[in-house]
Amino acid sequence: MYYFIKHFLKIFIFFSILLSGCETKIPCNSCNSTGKIICSICGGDKVYDSDVDCDYCIKGYSECRECDGEGEIKCHICFGNGMVYRPCYVCGGSGHDFSWRGDYRPCYVCGGSGMLYQPCFLCGGQGKIPCEECNGDGVVVCSHCSGRGYNTVTLDCDFCDDDGKITCDKCNGKGYIIEK
Ligand SMILES: [Zn+2]
Ligand SMILES: [Zn+2]
Ligand SMILES: [Zn+2]
Ligand SMILES: [Zn+2]
Ligand SMILES: [Zn+2]
Ligand SMILES: [Zn+2]
Repeated sequence: MYYFIKHFLKIFIFFSILLSGCETKIPCNSCNSTGKIICSICGGDKVYDSDVDCDYCIKGYSECRECDGEGEIKCHICFGNGMVYRPCYVCGGSGHDFSWRGDYRPCYVCGGSGMLYQPCFLCGGQGKIPCEECNGDGVVVCSHCSGRGYNTVTLDCDFCDDDGKITCDKCNGKGYIIEK
């Protein structure tokens, strides 16, 4: 009899331990019990497109190389002087004073040289003309990014494993959730 009680007690203890430690495994529906989910960064492709800022410009515009961003370049007629020798406006370059009816007399404006040092007709004496490359803005639309300011590049995904999946964080990769 004593033996039976002892044996019964043993079984009771065994079951109580079993009951107190009872765990219910619930299948994880986030990962369909696989423990892994498809990478949300690359969608499982292991590569993804990313927009990176263009190195060659600021917000799609880069400095005009033709004028170094100045918007104007040195006048190619007067070479920046602003002044050029041009035919005298009185004698038309001949050097003759046509108002004089007698023998040759030198033009009273140019002194007979026919040329006068005058403001350049192209730059109006400024020595500089607007840059045609940038229309005087000093900046041009970036050719590297077509003015978008960024480029789309394809990057290898570092967030997932070789199968394009990441560990399910709901179940910590176990595929099931333990409920006590
Ligand atoms: Zn899961
Ligand atoms: Zn990925
Ligand atoms: Zn320019
Ligand atoms: Zn000029
Ligand atoms: Zn003259
Ligand atoms: Zn650019």
